[in-house]
Amino acid sequence: MPSALVCPDCGTTYPDRWRCECGHPLEFAETPLPGGPAPDPAAFDGRRGLWSFEEFLPVDREVTLGEGATPLVDAPEWDAQFKLEYVFPTGSFKDRGATTTLSRAAELGVEKVVEDSSGNAGAAIATYAARAGIDADIYVPASVKASKLRAIERAGATPVRVEGSREDVTDACLDAVASGDGWYASHAWNPAFFAGTATVAYEIARQRDWQVPDAVVTPLGHGTLFLGAYRGFRALLEAGWTDRMPRLLGAQASGYAPIAEELHGASEGTNDVADGIQIRDPVRREEILEAVVETDGDAIALDADAVGRELERLHERGFYTEPTCAVAPAALQAYRERGVLDTDSDVVVPLTGSGLKG
Ligand SMILES: [Zn+2]
Repeated sequence: MPSALVCPDCGTTYPDRWRCECGHPLEFAETPLPGGPAPDPAAFDGRRGLWSFEEFLPVDREVTLGEGATPLVDAPEWDAQFKLEYVFPTGSFKDRGATTTLSRAAELGVEKVVEDSSGNAGAAIATYAARAGIDADIYVPASVKASKLRAIERAGATPVRVEGSREDVTDACLDAVASGDGWYASHAWNPAFFAGTATVAYEIARQRDWQVPDAVVTPLGHGTLFLGAYRGFRALLEAGWTDRMPRLLGAQASGYAPIAEELHGASEGTNDVADGIQIRDPVRREEILEAVVETDGDAIALDADAVGRELERLHERGFYTEPTCAVAPAALQAYRERGVLDTDSDVVVPLTGSGLKG
């Protein structure tokens, strides 16, 4: 039986639905948590990828391409560890959420999914839908990068290109959902997606022998990875496998920085280099702010120049990533310069998307 969903705001439960009648995002009514002490990190079977943490997952492994268990490597020039989240079947961390979301769709017997995306989430959902034999319509901005459009098309999904802003793309997709065009496999709304992105925390902790870093710095648009990390580290703490939370530090794009602006006031300029996080109204805004407060976290905005420079630096050191990804290591530097992070703090930065699709 697929797990039921519940609204954390008004308490209404549903067998399945994309959001509550009251408008709030839904969560799984029950989230599994393993009992007993933390297992030997070496005992994990890497061949099962992120599904080796299925004890934490509220969905069964129905649709998989062997994703997860991405490398965690030292990055001495940044005095940090990088989690290579671009080492995934579709070249971005969005596969973490796509495998769990399409598994949920398969459990429910869904025949067609719809999703709206600037590219990476769309490519991930299209690819995992292909793996599942489920049809997919992917709503994308008319300006979508050709490489991402190609990934969607080659997987047999139908791209729907929408003129206008990123918000217009979402609106068009929501119209389709409202008229019954398909099941909303949304990386912003669907709790199955966040159950998947939470596995980044399990992997980081396991790769460090259950020692949580002082801080994790991630790009921050809808908060797919930021909140996944928050949920994952919280679950580890609740399970008793770790003893603290890391500080969660977000990196936003100037001009698209609602969280940074709420914390620090308006940012200057715009940043169209980081095209993957041009989100002005994140669905889970309250939860993001809660995660910032609870972890002594923060969010700042980076301009296009800072991200462009950081991208070059990454490439020159062998990290072939896409532009949006560079916002996080650029933020790491800014956090240190501003004294938010001590110079000797132990930091993990996920590198979220591949340059091959960038
Ligand atoms: Zn509700």
